[in-house]
Amino acid sequence: MKTIDLHVHTTKSDGTVPPAEIAPLAMAAGLAAIAVTDHDTVGGLAEAARAGAACGVEVVSGIEFSTGWEHTEIHILGYLFDPESPLLRPALDWVAGDRLGRNQKMAALMRADGIPVTAEELYARYPESTVGRPHFAVKLMERGLADSVADAFRRYLAPGRKYYVRRNYIPFEEAVRVIRAAGGRAVLAHPFQYQYDDVRLRQLLGYCVSAGVEGMECLYSGYTPEQEAYLAALAREYGLFITGGSDFHGGHKPEISIGTGTGNLRVPYTLLEKMKKEE
Ligand code: AMP
Ligand code: FE
Ligand code: FE
Ligand code: ZN
Repeated sequence: MKTIDLHVHTTKSDGTVPPAEIAPLAMAAGLAAIAVTDHDTVGGLAEAARAGAACGVEVVSGIEFSTGWEHTEIHILGYLFDPESPLLRPALDWVAGDRLGRNQKMAALMRADGIPVTAEELYARYPESTVGRPHFAVKLMERGLADSVADAFRRYLAPGRKYYVRRNYIPFEEAVRVIRAAGGRAVLAHPFQYQYDDVRLRQLLGYCVSAGVEGMECLYSGYTPEQEAYLAALAREYGLFITGGSDFHGGHKPEISIGTGTGNLRVPYTLLEKMKKEE
């Protein structure tokens, strides 16, 4: 069976593998296709696709937007859109602008405590990444205020801690709309992450369908065959196509391998074919 992985992060968001090295890694893992789905950015897609063409792995355009529904952070995956589409720009710029404002606020909070740091300095230092809390964590370590990135989060950067500033999320319907406007398909990511019971999950699915979501990520790292079957039945019921991916982040989530997830994940290539075909 030809297998794929439709949920992969690179250094463009919070993964540790650069876009150019993802396809070779997928090839080594025996995958026929991958989708690069960095958080709120398409910045790695061109490079990933180039590397994929060179090593014979199909690279599908992707993105993962953080949005909200009823006070829960919900992730929407976008696939098969045109990464160059100007229709994506306003949404991507809005998210980047929100991040910049938040980074400036976090830096100001730290400066008020005598830690000399600016958001601008971090953007200059990490031109290839989406600057955020992990980069502030490194700064705190360098100042001797934390022993590790995890320690910096625990002490200063987690919700409720001194330097935490919350982000704003683009509206759910806006995320779905721009993905579709750019020629893509919108998919509900990792449905069990929201810790909903059956009733609530069905409410979310009803809302997803009304907003223009067409697929659901039913195969995901750590999901049991029973959970996969439950989600597949829901997908059928709500008229959603099925996708699957590992949520690979490289060294930041070392327990997750590309393609096989925590060991048992197998995503058939036929799911990608269906997503391409289905109207
Ligand atoms: P941000 O996007 O700026 O809110 O930062 C989120 C990123 O920080 C996540 O994607 C993780 O990579 C990292 N992160 C979140 N919580 C922790 C934690 N407790 N320890 C280490 N890294 C974390
Ligand atoms: Fe992530
Ligand atoms: Fe996610
Ligand atoms: Zn993800």
